[in-house]
Amino acid sequence: MDDSREQLRRIVAGLRTNLALRGRSGLGGVPLAPTRRRQSIAPEGPARGRVVVAGGGPAVSADDGPSPRVGGLVGLRLVREELGDCQRCKLSRGRKNLVYGVGNPDAHLVFVGEGPGADEDEQGEPFVGKAGQLLTKMIEAMGYGRADVYICNVVKCRPPGNRNPEPDEIAACEPFLKKQLGAIRPRMIVALGKFAAQCLLRDDTPIGRLRGNFRSYEGIALMPTFHPAYLLRDPSKKKEAWEDLKAVLAALKKMALEPPRAPV
Ligand code: SF4
Repeated sequence: MDDSREQLRRIVAGLRTNLALRGRSGLGGVPLAPTRRRQSIAPEGPARGRVVVAGGGPAVSADDGPSPRVGGLVGLRLVREELGDCQRCKLSRGRKNLVYGVGNPDAHLVFVGEGPGADEDEQGEPFVGKAGQLLTKMIEAMGYGRADVYICNVVKCRPPGNRNPEPDEIAACEPFLKKQLGAIRPRMIVALGKFAAQCLLRDDTPIGRLRGNFRSYEGIALMPTFHPAYLLRDPSKKKEAWEDLKAVLAALKKMALEPPRAPV
C-alpha cells in the first residue's frame, strides 16, 4: 500500500474512532469542516478553559511528513498507536509503563517536562509524584485544572536512576512529542526545567537565564520556567516561577484565551 493510501486509511480509521468516542462521551458527531480556528492571535471573543474549535474535526496538512495531522483526541490516539509497545530506544528496557501524556486533547496550554520518574513509571501518568503534586497546585493557581491542560514529557520512558535522557533517546522520542503537539495544536507551551527547555529550544543557555522569556517552538509560544522538582529543592525560586506563569496567563489573555476559573 503506498503512502497516500495508508494515510487515507489511517484518517478514516481515526474518524471512525472519533465517532465512536464522541458517541460514548456525548460529544456528538464529527464536525464537517476540517479547519480549526487558531491561526490568529487577534482577540476572538471570550474563550474559557478549552480552545473553542470551529469545525474541530481532523485537520490534515501536507507538511506533516509520514503521519497525518489529525487534531485533538483522534490525533493523540493515532500518535499513541504509532508508539505502540515502543522499543525505539534503550529506555524501553527498564520501564514499567510508557508514560504518554494526560489532559485535554484540545488544550491551549501544554506543560512539557523532561521524563517520567519512579511514580510516573509506576502509574503510567506524568507528574503524579511530589513534583507532580506541586505542578498541579501551580496549574490550579493559574485557574486551570489538570483536565483543562495537557501534560507530557520529552521522553516517555523513565531514564534509569532519573538521569537525564541521552541524545539518542531524545532523538528517538522527540518526534512523538512533536506529533502530540501537532495533534493538540496548543497556543502556549510551558517548558518545565532546564532539560525540557534546552531540548525543545536547542539552546544550552542555563534555565536561570532562559526562564521568564517567551520563545518559540515550531511556531508555538513557549515559556521556560523552573521544574517543580527544582522548586521543591529550592522554594525561594517559586516566586520567579509564578512570575513566569503570570506572564503566560497575560499572553493567553491577549489571545482571548482565559482559564476556567480566576487565577489565585
Ligand atoms: S523513550 Fe520514547 S523512543 Fe524510547 S522506548 Fe520510550 S517511547 Fe520509545
